[in-house]
Amino acid sequence: MSQEPLDLDAIRARAEAATEGPWGVIDWDSPDEGVNFIHVLQEQDGLETVCALPNPAEYTNRSCLRADAEFIAHAREDVPALLAEVERLRRDRDEWEVDSRGWRKEAVAQAAKLNAVRALHVQEACCCGKPDCAEPNRGCEACHAYYPCPTIRALDGDAS
Ligand SMILES: [Zn+2]
Ligand SMILES: [Zn+2]
Repeated sequence: MSQEPLDLDAIRARAEAATEGPWGVIDWDSPDEGVNFIHVLQEQDGLETVCALPNPAEYTNRSCLRADAEFIAHAREDVPALLAEVERLRRDRDEWEVDSRGWRKEAVAQAAKLNAVRALHVQEACCCGKPDCAEPNRGCEACHAYYPCPTIRALDGDAS
């Protein structure tokens, strides 16, 4: 892996150190004071403010600020959920890696067996003794059927 792996322990420590959730978002307009806030609140124990984003209309775009507050509030549950998902996927990946090592070994073993069968079912030499003899009726050395014999046809995917 060329990319630095995520430090899940550090992310989990930050998530666990933060105020317990769930968090919500509420507009807290105080027109008399000239500055409005969007509060991110802990939705328990009397709505404790986690943080407040100042929302003066001349300073920023309200919908964007609202999105920032929603992002912060949802991070309270999104981050632990993402941590759990990453851990689950990493466990799956590790299991697949172990499985695939076994499958590769099995595939190599099966290929060796098939090659051994192919080495037995070769076309027999013609009685004329010429290595390049084109006599078409020479049979299989192992099973004496016409070549390619049923074993070789099966290995080649043509068992008909
Ligand atoms: Zn011949
Ligand atoms: Zn054969």
